[in-house]
Amino acid sequence: MNIALKAKSRLQCKIPIHDRAAEQSCLALLQSCNSLPKLAQIHSRILKLGLLNNPLVLTKFTATSSDLNAIDYATSVIFSPESDTLLYDTFLFNTIIRAYAQINNLKTNSIECYNLMLEYGVSPNKFTYPFVLKACAGIGDLNLGKSVHGAVLKFQFGDDIHVQNTLVHMYGSCEGGIELGRKVFDEMSERDSVSWSAMIGGYARLGLSTDAIDLFRQMQISGVCPDEITMVTVLSACTDLGALEVGKWVESFIEKQMVNRSVGLCNALIDMFAKCGDIDKALKLFRSMNGITIVSWTSVIAGLAMHGRGLEAVALFEEMLEAGVPPDDVAFVGLLSACSHCGLVDKGREYFDSMKNDFGIIPKIEHYGCMVDMLCRSGRVKEAHEFIQKMPIEANPIIWRTLISACCARGELKLAESITKRLIGNEPMHESNYVLLSHIYAKLLRWEKKTKIREVMDKRGMKKIPGSTLIELDNEIYEFVCGDKSHHQSKEIYEMLDEMGRKMKKAGYVPTTSEVLLDINEEDKEDALNKHSEKLAIAFALLKTPPGTPIRIVKNLRVCNDCHSATKFISKIYNREIVVRDRHRFHHFKDGSCSCRDFW
Ligand code: ZN
Ligand code: ZN
Repeated sequence: MNIALKAKSRLQCKIPIHDRAAEQSCLALLQSCNSLPKLAQIHSRILKLGLLNNPLVLTKFTATSSDLNAIDYATSVIFSPESDTLLYDTFLFNTIIRAYAQINNLKTNSIECYNLMLEYGVSPNKFTYPFVLKACAGIGDLNLGKSVHGAVLKFQFGDDIHVQNTLVHMYGSCEGGIELGRKVFDEMSERDSVSWSAMIGGYARLGLSTDAIDLFRQMQISGVCPDEITMVTVLSACTDLGALEVGKWVESFIEKQMVNRSVGLCNALIDMFAKCGDIDKALKLFRSMNGITIVSWTSVIAGLAMHGRGLEAVALFEEMLEAGVPPDDVAFVGLLSACSHCGLVDKGREYFDSMKNDFGIIPKIEHYGCMVDMLCRSGRVKEAHEFIQKMPIEANPIIWRTLISACCARGELKLAESITKRLIGNEPMHESNYVLLSHIYAKLLRWEKKTKIREVMDKRGMKKIPGSTLIELDNEIYEFVCGDKSHHQSKEIYEMLDEMGRKMKKAGYVPTTSEVLLDINEEDKEDALNKHSEKLAIAFALLKTPPGTPIRIVKNLRVCNDCHSATKFISKIYNREIVVRDRHRFHHFKDGSCSCRDFW
């Protein structure tokens, strides 16, 4: 006889009346159990009464263990050598699989338990797979996910919408799996908000934010009403793209459709506004929200710092302390970078010390990075170097590159050269190290060495990460790459670029060509610089928007010296506020100067 069948017949067998009373009392005890010690007491009572083989009691015992986050306790009983395998049934396994699927580092147990279920011949049902797939998603193993998908089809649960939704989520969480997720999604006969959220979330997680927003538009057309999870996901895609207009639209949608805005949604909105360049709106939302959490504080503090409004960020941090909210390590990253941005070196040091002494937070590499940035920014290059050497953890390349940039800016070129060479030794395939070294040689007027670098890079087969800039106009997102001619208004854009160049030169702009690696003559260098993606995007914005409209762009790399200097001129000549988000921070260009005070 099949084990599962035996287990079933066992469930239906008659239990004597006196046992029934004991069973009911155990079930009642388990129902009200709210702590582990109590659970242990009930366990020994169950043993004493000989009720461990009672299927109802065992299932309730498992569910209670799970509720108390102690599923291991139950499984050690259930899978002990003395236990009666005839008691194993689908419900029992589902309870265990679900419990493990919800615990971050125990998701593999969930899969093991599912395999055990199949080994014992217990049939999975449609409630089994969403949990198993959730565990697969957490583990991120595509092959595992595919084999579970195979089982889903074999047991004929492929048409269940919940199973399909978790399949989409699982594929979207595994490297390379997004297309398979899309296939499942496209083949679904009906889709609810969970299906859409799962697919949009998959794109957003992979950084395919344009796809995420496109799909969200299709969701609108399909008439399925987005839920909170959809909105949070779409906001994170907007944040990634710097798509303020879409973000604003999402906000107005939320205002109209969602009566109760959760704290999570408010935090996502604040983060979006801060990172899409509208920090004042982020602040306004922050001031008006109920149930402010540490995440809300941190978003605004870090946002202010990124926008170069360090003093306000520091004041807000102090306000947070006064409000009795203990800061976490993320808040300190925001705070220290704020100190760095407004030149509060001594204050920054104080905060850095207080982090450990007063709040027991061990500084991480990010905090050390902020300190180095702070010292470099204030021109204390030697001190920064000493600080790095005394750090209890090893400095990462980002920290070294900060120091190198500062060395270059302060004329400490020999030090810069030796650090950069060592860095190249450690990271031979990292393009930006070579760019730095080339920059140093240009400053040292060592042209022959500079040319060598290009050769080395070619020999090692290194490709530059192509610079690209995003700009959002009329709810559309446009992307420009260096020398881009793909836009249908390309001709007008290049004409605008020429006009900008003429006006800038008249105003005293001199191109900074030293950063251009290519071994080409000066005129061509100028030309290459002229076609940097941010310049194209700005030209496009100048063409397409009425005078006085602020321009917001997002650059995937650090803004180069020349574009930085050019943008300052453009902001003055065309009387435009230009907000540039690069890989590290925001630059607010206005009236010929930038909020980063020329150190970035
Ligand atoms: Zn540039
Ligand atoms: Zn700047």
